[in-house]
Amino acid sequence: MSLTVLFAAGPGLWPEYEAPLRAAFAKARLSAHLVTEAAPEAVDYIIYAPISPVQDFTPFTRCKAVLNLWAGVERIVGNPTLTQPLCRMVDPGLTEGMVEYVVGHVLRHHLGMDRFIHGAPGWEQVVPPLARERRVAMLGLGELGLACARALQALNFDVQGWSRTPKTGLGLPCHHGEEGLRAVLNGAQIVVTLLPRTAETENILNASRLSWLPPGAVIINPGRGALIEDEALLAALDGPLGHATLDVFRVEPLPEDHPFRHHPRVTVTPHIAADTRAITAAEVVAENIRRGEAGEPFLHQVDRARGY
Ligand code: NAP
Repeated sequence: MSLTVLFAAGPGLWPEYEAPLRAAFAKARLSAHLVTEAAPEAVDYIIYAPISPVQDFTPFTRCKAVLNLWAGVERIVGNPTLTQPLCRMVDPGLTEGMVEYVVGHVLRHHLGMDRFIHGAPGWEQVVPPLARERRVAMLGLGELGLACARALQALNFDVQGWSRTPKTGLGLPCHHGEEGLRAVLNGAQIVVTLLPRTAETENILNASRLSWLPPGAVIINPGRGALIEDEALLAALDGPLGHATLDVFRVEPLPEDHPFRHHPRVTVTPHIAADTRAITAAEVVAENIRRGEAGEPFLHQVDRARGY
């Protein structure tokens, strides 16, 4: 019997995803009608993005899973009408993009590239330390944080990690809990935040925790805007903090008059750190539908209680 798979990730993405999804379904030998409109009670799977017009899942009585194209799920995980399994996107293309973004921005600050790009006058020879002498704190050791940590370690950066649960055997010093956060921030010259937005992580970098960083430290946030308290960050940047490179914000697009736009120590990028890539993501979606039909556990199923 043929499945009905509703692409409800928004009309803007359909032209990009249609062909990769059809190819991935064929490769996985899935017999499926891939459609952008269907009677809700006939839908077996929903390919989703939180910007979707579909916000009430109640009429999708037959739906076996909602397959989110985004890695972050904070805008859907608490939807009370969603009773079906929710899977988030773990896409090799997205991970690759995030690694490139993080490594690029870490190297910018590590090498002090801005001085030369902006044409420092004179001939002052300030030689940067080696990466092995530069401590990087990776907040979040999931799919993205761990991949970025590994790439930075391959360049010899002294990477330490922090996560919710204790971790061993990852080949880097790992911390957890409040004392662990203090320890990891205390010695960090560069902090990368790759945490999901949950009730627990909101404002995790507040004034008190920002004060644990050494003077001149740099924050790179491609995680979520709400991880950092805006006012506390601005105050820290007017004080000892060196720089903040921010990709994500509480309100997006970041309003033109937001102080981050004009602060000399802030770099704003417009939520471009890592996009889901249609070709690789389509294969993940197809594999999850195959699993659903075979009675196997879904990949990357979100834990509703945890919020990620
Ligand atoms: P993930 O695999 O779910 O990993 C999340 C990590 O955060 C895990 O290590 C988890 O700890 C840790 N964590 C969660 N809650 C915590 C808490 N209360 N205290 C300490 N650590 C906590 O997620 P991911 O795929 O790496 O993605 C991370 C985030 O990146 C996404 O949620 C999304 O917001 C963001 N993102 C941004 C872009 C962009 O373009 N800017 C693109 C994709 C994703 P445990 O390991 O102990 O569970």
